[in-house]
Amino acid sequence: MKSDWWSNFIDLQSSQDIEIKRQKLVLYFSSYIGGGILFLFYLQHIASQDSLLTCILLASSLVVLSNAVISHFHPYFGVSCYITGLGVVGLILGLVFTGGHQNTALYWLYPFPLVYFILFDYRKGLVANLLIFSAILFLLYQPDWILAEYQPAEKSRFIASYLVTIFLSFVAEYFRFHSHQELSSINYQRQKQANTDPLTQLPNRRFLDSVFFIGADREPKHYFPMVVVMADIDFFKRVNDTYGHDTGDHVLKHVASLLKSSLRGFDVVARIGGEEFLILLPQTMLVDGISVAEKIRIECQNTPFNQFDNLQQVYIDLTVSFGVAEASSAEQLNNAIMAADSKLYLAKEQGRNQVQG
Ligand code: GH3
Ligand code: MG
Ligand code: MG
Repeated sequence: MKSDWWSNFIDLQSSQDIEIKRQKLVLYFSSYIGGGILFLFYLQHIASQDSLLTCILLASSLVVLSNAVISHFHPYFGVSCYITGLGVVGLILGLVFTGGHQNTALYWLYPFPLVYFILFDYRKGLVANLLIFSAILFLLYQPDWILAEYQPAEKSRFIASYLVTIFLSFVAEYFRFHSHQELSSINYQRQKQANTDPLTQLPNRRFLDSVFFIGADREPKHYFPMVVVMADIDFFKRVNDTYGHDTGDHVLKHVASLLKSSLRGFDVVARIGGEEFLILLPQTMLVDGISVAEKIRIECQNTPFNQFDNLQQVYIDLTVSFGVAEASSAEQLNNAIMAADSKLYLAKEQGRNQVQG
């Protein structure tokens, strides 16, 4: 998925988290059930003469079960997948080698291609499956190397049907993966749309409440100290009254793009009212925030609106007033916004086109 400014804030992570959760649940579920079945087979074989098969069943069930238990307690889930993958390789090759109970080993191999597509993504799963398939093929056609004896017809039918199983598992996982990607992308676009002001394409008030402030609360060290800047276009009503509402809209877009172009990637400028904007500068001290606001003020003053509008060239000098405050924690954010608003009021009172901090 393409990453843009919004991906700093909108939770791309959540769809990846869902994917990891799915993988974990499948690993636990299949490990406990599969490992349990292997252990039952081991118990059944204890009394048999085939001590090699008994050892293979015990070892693989212990690897799969203990790995699933341990994976609850460490953060490296990928490592658990590799360990289970290796345990299953040992089981597959051991079964082919010994022939299993009364030479029925090959029948037990069919579930395993799917296991590798679940443990890894569809690309790694395919590579793992093809490598394992090559190893099985090698053992089947080197009868001197293995204990089991397979009939030629048995081998050829097994190879064909095992390949079909790999192929079908691949196809199922491939399309599942891509439809998950599409759903994540639709979800991302919808979140973006809901949090965007349609006129200026800036984040809206909803973005602040439902995304930004929640993020600041969750990971304060990435956000604080934060500078809050309230910005309001001076005498904007006059623009509407003189040139009409449509030109007023174009002026709003012009100012929005000026504000946006002056900021860093993680900074936010949101449209919170008609011609009012809230600028949030994470990890910034008050003095630096005041200089940023001053830089933007000069930029706005020096960049008049000059566009062809309503069949005529429209030239409008614009100024913006700013109120600046600092918040050092999430709890102080609301107060800082109110303080910035009071400072903005002061800037208006003292003649507009200025920064008060
Ligand atoms: P001040 O310097 O004190 O801020 O004066 P002002 O004229 O900018 O402020 P005032 O609050 O009196 O007027 C704001 C105007 O913004 C009034 C309203 O019609 C206009 N406005 C609000 N939203 C929009 C919009 O989406 N498009 C347009 N064109 N105008 C808008
Ligand atoms: Mg105004
Ligand atoms: Mg206003």
